[in-house]
Formats: sequence, structure tokens, C-alpha cells
Amino acid sequence: MEIVNNKYTIQGLDLLDVVSEFGSPLYVYDAAKISHQVENLKAAFPGMPLRIKFACKSLTNLSILKLIRANGAELDTVSIQEVRLGLKAGFKPEEILFTPNCVSFNEIKEAVALGVMINIDNISILEQFGHEYHNTVPVCVRLNPHIMAGGNKKISTGHVDSKFGISIFQLRHLHRVIQSNNINVIGLHMHSGSDILDAEVFLRGAEVLFEAAMEFPDLQFIDFGSGFKVAYREGDVTTDLQELGIQLSKAFKAFCKSYGRKLEIWFEPGKYLVSEAGYFLVRTNVIKTTPATVFVGVESGQNHLIRPMMYDAYHDMVNISNIDGTKRIYTVVGYICETDTFGLDRKLSEVHEGDIIAIKNAGAYGFMMASNYNSRFRPAEVLIIDGKAKLIRKRETMEDLFKNQVEIDI
Ligand SMILES: *Cc1c(COP(=O)(O)O)cnc(C)c1O
Repeated sequence: MEIVNNKYTIQGLDLLDVVSEFGSPLYVYDAAKISHQVENLKAAFPGMPLRIKFACKSLTNLSILKLIRANGAELDTVSIQEVRLGLKAGFKPEEILFTPNCVSFNEIKEAVALGVMINIDNISILEQFGHEYHNTVPVCVRLNPHIMAGGNKKISTGHVDSKFGISIFQLRHLHRVIQSNNINVIGLHMHSGSDILDAEVFLRGAEVLFEAAMEFPDLQFIDFGSGFKVAYREGDVTTDLQELGIQLSKAFKAFCKSYGRKLEIWFEPGKYLVSEAGYFLVRTNVIKTTPATVFVGVESGQNHLIRPMMYDAYHDMVNISNIDGTKRIYTVVGYICETDTFGLDRKLSEVHEGDIIAIKNAGAYGFMMASNYNSRFRPAEVLIIDGKAKLIRKRETMEDLFKNQVEIDI
């Protein structure tokens, strides 16, 4: 989003016009920004056999998946439904990695039948996998290197009491299961959680993985997961990709040398590819002044963007209807009948009823976590691509709320 001729625009389109055309609340994504992020990641690893697997749980709209594919990235999925969405978007099965946690073995069998690469994060599932397939289906194993990433436990997955991955301390048990079932392990994986602050953390995890990898003779790739930190507010420290690229490439090359073969290097970014490309546009319903605060009450709520309430996530926002207005302090809240705060004490250009507020970093885990709570419709989604705004998901209607309900005679 940039200001051009005193208007907030994406690819030259005035966002207020986009709202007039498609209504609000509205998720808007900038295709150019997504492509740019994919290119940035590629550029950080020049000459390396890199594969980018978009963690599509962050944003599974089919048109976004097609855009990701057109940019040469592949998919990381966490449910059989995501696998099917990926296939529908045109990904080949071999481009899709399935990284489930605590799903039934039946779901894993379904994914095998669809031909995607399976990433197993539990010894008991690996045993069942071995009994079923022996060495006929290659598999990736998710290890937990117990590297503590970031500060927020809710979004870090590598620490010692995390439910994710097979502990690095269980390697012996793991090898026994692999050998006794003749399982063909061709990939090792780690994903230590969101918001890794610097290359240092990545490298610590990588070193643990490299050491473990020496005992897996048939590897084709190592998957370093994600956790690239993007800026949510001005001045936020973000992952220094250039630095990470240089350091990890060096360490990876050294590892490949001692391993005796060149392996592929995989990443699974979600947020990094789509977070900053997304804006959530909401209309101001009311200005409500209390003795303590001036509230901006918008026509949306935690049902549409739950990250502020669920993770205490900070989402920057601007009043795009009044660019030059005097800055005032507001608390921006939603219309859900619960505490429903988008932003506390925010400095916004003076807000009037009817103004459109753009909430930033809405591309990842925004629409995907939207629900029908309070029997509200989920928002529409628009992709701005090649200078045009295209509807990629319709706003819901009453039909959608009735659809699966079964009315019995009472
Ligand atoms: C969620 C997830 C990711 C993506 O995390 P981001 O913080 O969005 O980059 C990557 N890999 C796995 C296995 C995940 O579950």
C-alpha cells in the first residue's frame, strides 16, 4: 500500500474505490508483494538447490495458491483438505509436502494415495507407516531440536514441552523403528515456530539437524521449516534474510561435503510470503466516547481477524479515508459481543463514522481463521494483480449460514 496523489493505493488502484466496488469488510491482497517475497527468498540463496514450500494454512485461497505456483514455489500442507486444495490449484503431488500433527493414520494413508510427500512427527505413526508401506513410500521425519524460538510460547513449537516433532533425544528409538521396518527416510525436517529473531537461532537448529542427518544415509533434502519474522509495526526487527542466506548456505555446503552428497534445502514460509501482502479493510460504524476512551467501532470483529485477541498480535492500521486529518488516539474495536479489540490507543487520522480503516499484515492467518461467530458472514477476498482488482472469494450470504443446518420438527 502506498500513498499516491493523496490516496492509499495498491498497484495504482485507490483502495477506497476497491471497497466501493466489493464492499466491506474486505480482505485485499497485493499479488506483486507476494511475488516479491518469493523472489527475495530465492535471492537470499543464490546457486543453492532451494525449494520453497508455501505453508498454505496461512492463506489457502485457490487463486493465491495458483499465484504461488506461478512464482515457482511449492506447498506445505497440514490437512488432507489442504492437500486437495493444492491439487485443485494445479500443484503436482510431488510438489506438496504433508506435515500433519496428531491426525489419524487413515488421513495419512489418504495423502499417500494422492502421491504427496509425507512428513511424520510421531514415532507411533512412523511405526504404523512402516508396517503399512515398508520401504515402498519414501518419507520425511520431523525432528524437534528443542530450540526455543521467539518469545511467545503459543507460537513456538520447538521447545521441550511442545507437541510437535520427534524429540532429538529419541533418535535411538527412531532409528530402531526405521531399521526394523525398513523405512526409507529421504528428508529431515524441523520447524521451530514462528517469529525467529535472527540467523543465530536458525543456525543452532540447523547444526542439531546436520548432526542427526549423518545417521540417515538416504536423504535427499533437509527442510528448515519457517519462522521468518516479518514486521508488524514500524521498527520491528525482522529476520535478516541476506545474513541467514549467507550463513546457512555456508553451513549447509560444509554439511553436504561431510555427508558426501549434495542435498536440497527446503523452507516452508507462510507469513513471510503473504502477511504483508494483505490488508483488511473495515468500515467505521460508530465513534463512541466514554469518560476514558474514544472508541472506533468497526463493522467487523474477532470473528474476521482473531490474531489480536488470540495472540495479542499487534496489527498496525491507518484511516485511509482521511489521510491528512489531525492525529488522535483511538481504541479500535469490533462488533462482536465479547471483548473485541483490534488495537488499543492507536494514533489515527481523525476518524469519522463511515471511514475505512485498513488493518495491515492481514495476509497470513487472517481470513483463514475467520468464523461465523455471532452469525456474521465471512468477508470477501480480492486479489490485486496486474493493476486490476479481482474478486477471489465471494462474501457469504444467509444461504451459507443455513446450508448445513438440519431443521427438525419441534
Ligand atoms: C505454520 C507452519 C509453517 C509456517 O509458519 P509461518 O510462521 O507462517 O511462516 C511452516 N511449517 C509448518 C510445519 C507449519 O505448521
